[in-house]
Amino acid sequence: MTKDPVCGMTVAGTKAAATATHEGKTYVFCSDTCKAKFLQDPRRYTEGGQ
Ligand SMILES: [Zn+2]
Repeated sequence: MTKDPVCGMTVAGTKAAATATHEGKTYVFCSDTCKAKFLQDPRRYTEGGQ
């Protein structure tokens, strides 16, 4: 289980609607919408909070 960094929803890896790699880490998303938001500003979702 991995957390969608955009909306915070827990997403099972096999059920991920979309994935993206950023700085060597793979992130999973519940939807293409969340992926698009992530790609617009990855640092917003990967720094600070975690
Ligand atoms: Zn999401």
